[in-house]
Amino acid sequence: MQLVFATNNRHKLEEVEAKLQGEIKLLTLNDIGCYDDIEETGTTFKANASIKSQHIYQKYNMNCFGDDSGLEIDALNGEPGVYSARYAGEHGNHAANIKKVLDNLKDAPNRKARFRTVISLIWNGEEHFFDGTVEGTIRTAPSGTDGFGYDPIFEPDGYNVTFAEMSMGEKNSISHRAKAMEQLLAFLSNT
Ligand code: IMP
Repeated sequence: MQLVFATNNRHKLEEVEAKLQGEIKLLTLNDIGCYDDIEETGTTFKANASIKSQHIYQKYNMNCFGDDSGLEIDALNGEPGVYSARYAGEHGNHAANIKKVLDNLKDAPNRKARFRTVISLIWNGEEHFFDGTVEGTIRTAPSGTDGFGYDPIFEPDGYNVTFAEMSMGEKNSISHRAKAMEQLLAFLSNT
């Protein structure tokens, strides 16, 4: 079975491939020769996930999925949310994004936050949504070098390390993306 994953984010791809354990062959946007700049114009994770998968389905007519994910911080009214990748302006500048979060939070006592992923799967022409959440807190300073994005400042509940201090296997056993992928896999195994 093969499925297009509408991303070129190497970290996301590695996490998802580890979760699939070879059960499904994933094709990336590069693999199918799609170099379009798919603009995330939605205001929700669900809308943006759908924009990515619909773009691929309409253009290539292939089974595919897109995901949109991000960090929601209670004391910042849910920011950065759908703007997680470009919170400090430049898309994908993780160091600047982390700095902006820490500057905005300063020494706020409530540091509760969660990562969320919504996946839009288009399977035989029908769209299905799956989502995953992991609750945690925002550290006062970054710690760890693994993972990507906000991983160095996110400590999942029940752990005293950040996502960036975990192996990919550990992160993949509890993360938002892993939970959404588990639902997608369960769906596919029942089709
Ligand atoms: P997307 O590619 O539009 O889904 O943007 C996701 C953005 O949210 C990334 O660029 C990161 O800043 C953040 N993000 C999503 N998932 C994770 C994660 O697992 N760890 C750290 N940051 C994440």
